[in-house]
Amino acid sequence: MGDKCDFSLSQIRRLCHQLCSSSCVQEKRRGLHEQLLRQRPHWSVQKKDEQFHKIDLGVKVPFDISLPLPARDEREDSGHGVKLFWERFSCQHCGRCCYTPGAGLLLEDEDFERIAEHIGKKTLKSMCRYDKGLHAWILKQPCPFYSPDEKKCQIYAIRPLTCTKYPLHPPLKEMPYNLAVDAFCPAARQFAKDSLGWWIICENNWAKLLCKIEER
Ligand code: SF4
Ligand code: SF4
Repeated sequence: MGDKCDFSLSQIRRLCHQLCSSSCVQEKRRGLHEQLLRQRPHWSVQKKDEQFHKIDLGVKVPFDISLPLPARDEREDSGHGVKLFWERFSCQHCGRCCYTPGAGLLLEDEDFERIAEHIGKKTLKSMCRYDKGLHAWILKQPCPFYSPDEKKCQIYAIRPLTCTKYPLHPPLKEMPYNLAVDAFCPAARQFAKDSLGWWIICENNWAKLLCKIEER
């Protein structure tokens, strides 16, 4: 590499993301990490107990876990990471994301209209509070649509957009190109544990990327 590296951290991250979009998802889907791990174990797998302990803190402490998958961004055809996440994610149907008390669930305008069409505006409003700052209706929590007896959402087919995306959260500021999941969700925690070995592919791609930069 020359004396001066012309790349900013955000550019390197972007390059990494491009490499990820084009290769790492396919590599993870094919299980290449197992082959790589046989050659050289990854720190996240070597320190599995420590990693598991950190992930399990999500039971009590709210935080997001970064996953070794590229997040969708504004570019066309960049949803590979999200797609692989949903292929592999398996909801445990515990209902914790629905019946846990909290600040409430923001309804997009289209959510409000869609649900109101089914149950009526008056009924829906009685289940919400209006937030003047956000100019939006907030569904009270625990969610009134969750049936503890049947253990399911009573409006599943028309549930709010936020619910369709859960447990995915917007990517973390410090890792803007990785997917983030809510550590509160037990299935998300399990996913994070199961995919610890995937980080070795990220590391491998980073090594390739650095080589490319050094060749400049
Ligand atoms: S908390 Fe997670 S596992 Fe439980 S119902 Fe919600 S998405 Fe499924
Ligand atoms: S609308 Fe349905 S999926 Fe969303 S929080 Fe309520 S019960 Fe859960």
